[in-house]
Amino acid sequence: MRFEFATAGRILFGEGVAAEAAPAAAAMGRRVLLVTGGNADRAAPLARALQVAGVTAAPFRILGEPTIDTIAAGTVFARGEGCDAVIAIGGGSAIDGGKALAAMLANPGEPLDYLEVVGRGQPLRQPSAPFIAVPTTAGTGSEVTRNAVLAAPERRVKASLRSPHLLPRLAVVDPELTLDLPRALTASTGLDALTQLIEPYVSVRANPMTDLYAVEGLRTAAAALPRAWENGGDRDARRGMCWAALLGGLSLANAGLGAVHGFAAPVGGMFPAPHGAVCAALLPGAMEINVGALRRRAPDSRALARYDEVARLLTGKPHATAADGIAWVAALCRRFEIPPLRAYDVTPADIPELVSRAAEASSMKGNPIALTREELEEIIRRAI
Ligand SMILES: [Zn+2]
Repeated sequence: MRFEFATAGRILFGEGVAAEAAPAAAAMGRRVLLVTGGNADRAAPLARALQVAGVTAAPFRILGEPTIDTIAAGTVFARGEGCDAVIAIGGGSAIDGGKALAAMLANPGEPLDYLEVVGRGQPLRQPSAPFIAVPTTAGTGSEVTRNAVLAAPERRVKASLRSPHLLPRLAVVDPELTLDLPRALTASTGLDALTQLIEPYVSVRANPMTDLYAVEGLRTAAAALPRAWENGGDRDARRGMCWAALLGGLSLANAGLGAVHGFAAPVGGMFPAPHGAVCAALLPGAMEINVGALRRRAPDSRALARYDEVARLLTGKPHATAADGIAWVAALCRRFEIPPLRAYDVTPADIPELVSRAAEASSMKGNPIALTREELEEIIRRAI
């Protein structure tokens, strides 16, 4: 047994821990770049707390998913303001943007110097500026992962900055921040979290430590996600989903992902579709195609037994098999009214390009079996 496990320098979890973010920031810098998402009001209490803690906050807002241009502009702004630390509060977009900006504050040049696929792919040599992540959704787990996804809209692609330096110095996971998350976002972010537990668990890179997290996360999410969707004010359910999403982040950062995320990158790059909704639309079909491919070509694969275990964790039934798990996920997607990808203008004519791009995606490397082009086509066809 040999594996590596890396995560944020420190994790604070629980109701009310958001109040500890500002004092922690004060220990990291005097001028902090405060990165927020579209709803900057959510950051108002944090902005006040930073002031009380004697920290000057330079606000920077990221509307929608962060683009290369947004991060380039934010880098110029943060350097001009003399920021020495970064704190991001918001969904995955704000957190990813904050990670990228913290990296760019400490490294010369522009984001394209370091981006994979579309950029020059140089390694980030210097450790990032101190960075605190405060998620307000329960989904991406970005607070404990080592990549930041940036969009290049004019080229219709998304690409990652990827480096151990991107791991936040501190992750502050406060379930109270998710209490007023709208129902549709609870559904899509929650299904992203669920995907980010299933894919690492069946990944070829799974290790004994990520297995512990994935199993606990799947059991927790199975109970908490339907309840959080039913009643957003259910504190136990919200706490459960924050816990499950954190466990998903810990798992994926160390075990990788699979076909759903392999497709999510090109679909999200080519069409204006939110990441969680894309994952949700792809998940049941990807599970079924993977199980079929494993049965035909790798009947002794440990991943097959793991799909059965996923089913038992999701359904709570001790004799459930993979098919029951797939049915459980599909039923949840129907109940949550997850739209098919054609709702975002994806059409069958896009299949060849999406398959070509997905086959090259870094997430695809974690998939439990190498899928044929026909199998990949079938996954995306079912999601459209
Ligand atoms: Zn995801």
